Amino acid sequence: MGAFPDEPEHFYHWLQTQKYTYRPDDFVPRRIYGDYLEQILTQTEQESVARGHTIKRVSGSVTAAAWNARDAYFTLSVGEETIRASLLVLACGTQSAAEIGIQSWRWFSGGYGPETNYALLKQPEIHILGTGLTTVDACLTLSTLGYSGPIIAHSHHGWLPAAHAATESIPAPDWAQAPALHPRSAAALMLHIRRAAKNAPWRAVMDALRPHTTALWQSLPPKEQARVFAHVFAAWNIHRHRMAPQIAAKIQAMQNSGQLILRRGRIEREHVTPLMLDCTGPSYDITRSRQPLLMQLLAQDCIRPAKNGVGIATTSKLEAEGAAKGRIYALGALIVGDWFECTAVPSLREQAQRVAQALAAVHDGDIPATLAAK
Ligand SMILES: Cc1cc2nc3c(=O)[nH]c(=O)nc-3n(C[C@H](O)[C@H](O)[C@H](O)COP(=O)(O)OP(=O)(O)OC[C@H]3O[C@@H](n4cnc5c(N)ncnc54)[C@H](O)[C@@H]3O)c2cc1C
Repeated sequence: MGAFPDEPEHFYHWLQTQKYTYRPDDFVPRRIYGDYLEQILTQTEQESVARGHTIKRVSGSVTAAAWNARDAYFTLSVGEETIRASLLVLACGTQSAAEIGIQSWRWFSGGYGPETNYALLKQPEIHILGTGLTTVDACLTLSTLGYSGPIIAHSHHGWLPAAHAATESIPAPDWAQAPALHPRSAAALMLHIRRAAKNAPWRAVMDALRPHTTALWQSLPPKEQARVFAHVFAAWNIHRHRMAPQIAAKIQAMQNSGQLILRRGRIEREHVTPLMLDCTGPSYDITRSRQPLLMQLLAQDCIRPAKNGVGIATTSKLEAEGAAKGRIYALGALIVGDWFECTAVPSLREQAQRVAQALAAVHDGDIPATLAAK
């Protein structure tokens, strides 16, 4: 979880400097991780000032980005403020899930404010749409708040994320390491993974594939990538993004007590319940985004859907393909179609560094040490 790709233990060392006693494999509360990131950002801001640059934080939603092609700049609207920008980095995280016609409250990490939490606690039962990590987060928060009624979680397959467990690390299979041996179809990729998991613990296989996943992904033709998203993504996610063992134990206890019930199947409008928490996770179809900023960039052809229809199209330098190419960079969930691994910190930090280096190359090459490759 360290912030820098070439210093993965940076977070662990920071914890030690802060006198925390976590071990390298422990799961640390998100609040502490937030303190860590905040401290790095503050340090970067201070370094920038020393170099004659300014990082200014602006609070508010960017609701418009009008592209002036002739003079190559954007006019951003943030509340009452108008900002002129020659470059944009889109790091805006996930888009809300597509409308499915059910009255639902979207779940945010950490829950809602006290008033809504109070309303939740009075519900005789709570239905959740989704059975992934956000649902796990919702169940734990409800339990911490003292909710003791039934929680019914619905999804197409009814799978919870698998539990993490320590395993010996193994080398990645040859077919993952050598681009010439990369599988070229979704079915072949799955076959290769299943075969590898017959000869080694599946968690070790998934972990060994991690550094090669982007290359494997980019070897698949867009049509096959679309197949993975349509048919394999859910299975991939529950094996790849696992629950910490202690979290898995709590969720298991909620299932054993009968409080948490998993339901498999498609939810239709007639299943409307008094309360449905939307934990379906992000929507990656940019053409259905209701974010004014993204809608406007799309309308101006400044961003384009990826060839497989998921997220936006980018170059190897993470520039957004489109009319403002070279002026917009993107990272994170928005580029999942082209890059696949865009959720966990190890992937995001690599993308962030790649963007920082590209920006430094475009400008004077002078970037703070905290952002530069070490
Ligand atoms: C419940 C939960 C648990 C997780 N646990 C882990 C974990 O243990 N380990 C791990 O590696 N990952 C974990 N993740 C995933 C990880 O947190 C996310 O993938 C990561 O935070 C994404 O970072 P990001 O900066 O790309 O996007 P975000 O963190 O979503 O940040 C996007 C930012 O952009 C801003 N923004 C968006 N649009 C606009 C706009 N128009 N104007 C102004 N601002 C805008 C938002 O306000 C936000 O500040 C978890 C995610 C969830 C939901």
